[in-house]
Amino acid sequence: MTGLVVIAAATLTLSAPAQPTEPVSIDDRLSAIPDAPKLADAPERYLAVFEIDEDDVVAKHVRDEEAGRLGLMCWDRVTTLFPVWARRRIVQFNVQEGTRWAGQFDGSGTNDVGRRGYRLSVAAYLLAQEDELGDPDRPVDARRGTLDWTLVHEIGHYYCLVTDAIERFSRRFDARPGMPERREAPDDYPQDGSPLIEGDFVTSYAERTPGDEEVVETFTTYLLVPELPKNDSLVAEKIGFFGGVRGMPALRKRIQGLGAE
Ligand SMILES: [Zn+2]
Repeated sequence: MTGLVVIAAATLTLSAPAQPTEPVSIDDRLSAIPDAPKLADAPERYLAVFEIDEDDVVAKHVRDEEAGRLGLMCWDRVTTLFPVWARRRIVQFNVQEGTRWAGQFDGSGTNDVGRRGYRLSVAAYLLAQEDELGDPDRPVDARRGTLDWTLVHEIGHYYCLVTDAIERFSRRFDARPGMPERREAPDDYPQDGSPLIEGDFVTSYAERTPGDEEVVETFTTYLLVPELPKNDSLVAEKIGFFGGVRGMPALRKRIQGLGAE
């Protein structure tokens, strides 16, 4: 929940103490965020641009109203999945046009808000096809191609960067002698996008793409699968690596607890 919502709710309660508080609509929340002229210089591919300060959306530039609404609901999901300490230096969040990328994390540090930090983008098409987007507390779905997979994967690029997990994972697995060969076009992964929790690699993408992408796919698997593997396969060891990364067990507990009664 944003600070803006808290202020609005408190004002309502003061002016009409006997009335139940109406939930604040997405449209009202969107229009309460100040428009920032500096964000108008952001790349044209962004349909909605938000400046983020910890849990708060402090400024916006909206080129497409529907993308603005979808983006605000998506940001609610981000703050539900990840507490501030796990995404503190993400200072810009965008809804992006096109279908080439489901999501993007810009690790270069380039952004449009004028503060140090990173920008995160999610494709509008992915938000539009999410049935429960308005319910930020919904349970997670551990399959590639979903919004949750995309969000956790992209924030994984940030978290694995700031915790040095990319470097440590690569040293432990890629540099070790006798590691399995990567196939360029594996076609025997589950069609529904579920990650593998035995074998050598969690997903086809992880097998095809060494370095950051395999690390982040394995990060996503650690956080999203309902049961962690207990077998002695290489992939179980890779997933288990994240149990030793700072903050990860607490993140997993938070994410797996979503939607519980
Ligand atoms: Zn990636």
